[in-house]
Amino acid sequence: MSFEGYYQILCVNGHLFEVDYMHLDYYSDEHELCPDCNTRLPKNFFHNLVDDTNYDTCDIIPDFEWEKLCIVEKDEYGLKRYRRPTEQEHAKMRNYIQTWSEEEGFKYTYVGKEEN
Ligand SMILES: [Zn+2]
Repeated sequence: MSFEGYYQILCVNGHLFEVDYMHLDYYSDEHELCPDCNTRLPKNFFHNLVDDTNYDTCDIIPDFEWEKLCIVEKDEYGLKRYRRPTEQEHAKMRNYIQTWSEEEGFKYTYVGKEEN
């Protein structure tokens, strides 16, 4: 099975949006625009690749992890803004698998190492 997934992306203004893996790959020479503020993404924009190949969704950063990085609750677009996670934070906050069941809906399971 070929890879399926999407990117969780932060624009320079801290807006969070998603772009399909194939889509971003196809436009690899271009830089995507933020759908909210229309700002062009810089070369080193923050992106987290989510693996959607199999039934479960791996390496996803859940909403409650993004919440910890929220710096503006409501900006002029009516949107939340998030600060860019450090590399260390990123490595930790993407350690989730998202599953779905009829009984529980979407559920996140932490699969990383515990903090010491
Ligand atoms: Zn934006």
